[in-house]
Amino acid sequence: MSLLNIAAVIAKLRKKLKRALLARLLKGNNVACNVCGSTYSSFFPYLNRANAQCPNCGSLERTRLLYYFIQDKGLISASARLLHIAPEQCLYNVFKKQLQTNYLPADKFEAGYSYPPDTLNVDITTLPFEDASLDIVIAIHVLEHVQDDAKALSEIYRVLKTGGSAILQVPYQADREHTYEDVSITTPEARKQYYGQSDHVRIYGRDYIQRFLAAGFSMEYAGYEAALPEQIKERCVFKKEEIFLLRK
Ligand SMILES: [Zn+2]
Repeated sequence: MSLLNIAAVIAKLRKKLKRALLARLLKGNNVACNVCGSTYSSFFPYLNRANAQCPNCGSLERTRLLYYFIQDKGLISASARLLHIAPEQCLYNVFKKQLQTNYLPADKFEAGYSYPPDTLNVDITTLPFEDASLDIVIAIHVLEHVQDDAKALSEIYRVLKTGGSAILQVPYQADREHTYEDVSITTPEARKQYYGQSDHVRIYGRDYIQRFLAAGFSMEYAGYEAALPEQIKERCVFKKEEIFLLRK
């Protein structure tokens, strides 16, 4: 093992230990993580948000809501083939355990980043899967990083079986009617200035839904989060967010 590897292992252990100690301090039963089943007096803060991250599995408000939705709607059967692009570690853990080799975590590899074991290096605009070979595709906050999002959507549509589903949440500005994008904005600095993040390639407006429909998808279950009982939302601390379930 190289010195670099040893340093990485030590850093990982320290992080794990710190997490375990903090988790002990937050022992309690006020909040519950529906992804890993742990309960605490409160979740960890995350960025500027108090009570956000599960000390055990690292789930955030959005991931907990999505996982609740997926389970509630019975989207993943025991034999489902699931493509999960840019996999969140906490969801990776549960999907891998549930689906084993039918779970396909994938990402576009970049230098300096590490990926969970068995993650496939794929480009979302040229998916290496046969037509109609997958039951469900999940890609959360991915398309705003993809220059040709129409090609990505057509690829996801192609690889899904008829009746298959996709959850492709993107950040969008509710007060913006039309998506803003300009192919001449290419540097990280300019992207940060115009799109608010150095690796985003557009700001979606309310018309982003049209892009999904143009790819051939139909859409179901608008208003899901708003209709959930307050008790569940407060206990699991869900993000207030529309979930759009796309169907082929
Ligand atoms: Zn958890």
